[in-house]
Amino acid sequence: MQYPEPIAKLIDSYMKLPGIGNKTATRLAFYTLDMDETDVKDFSKALQATKDDLHFCSICGNITEADPCEICTDKTRDQSQILVVEQPKDVMVMERMHEYHGLYHVLQGVLSPIEGKGPEELNIKSLIKRLQDNPAVKEVIVATNATPEGEATAMYLSRLIKPAGIKVTRLAHGLSVGADIEYADEMTLFKAVEGRTEL
Ligand SMILES: [Zn+2]
Repeated sequence: MQYPEPIAKLIDSYMKLPGIGNKTATRLAFYTLDMDETDVKDFSKALQATKDDLHFCSICGNITEADPCEICTDKTRDQSQILVVEQPKDVMVMERMHEYHGLYHVLQGVLSPIEGKGPEELNIKSLIKRLQDNPAVKEVIVATNATPEGEATAMYLSRLIKPAGIKVTRLAHGLSVGADIEYADEMTLFKAVEGRTEL
């Protein structure tokens, strides 16, 4: 027996989320069917709003409602440091730590020949332009994940940026190899920033 089309479509949609297989998707779809009408409306509005109301900041590449984002426009932040991360969610993680007060740059990924991701596919050009336009920047802290791709990206950036006389540092390896920034606890992350080393 086939599921009615709306349910079948909802199952398909849930299956597009990471880590969700057919069984979980089916469970979620039937759970949704039992939810309050208001909750379902709020859920669908929230989904739509992530696409309608969020944009990438034209300066740092982070997700934001206003462009430039509130971090880029905050003049009380330390304008001499830019911390480079892979994804917008890494910015949230660093901000939750409350110990870093500089600026950010979001690459939107890492160099990965296997996935066909070269420098052109990442927000690297905008970073270089930012450094050229802002002589106040004295240090670029590369906080890509401790994966082979993250390391390769850090080395690439270091080779690109250091000749301009800007210090390039890398988070200390309190972070375990292969670890994603987003899973690090705040103390580990704080230590990794404190103990950063020059590339
Ligand atoms: Zn920004």
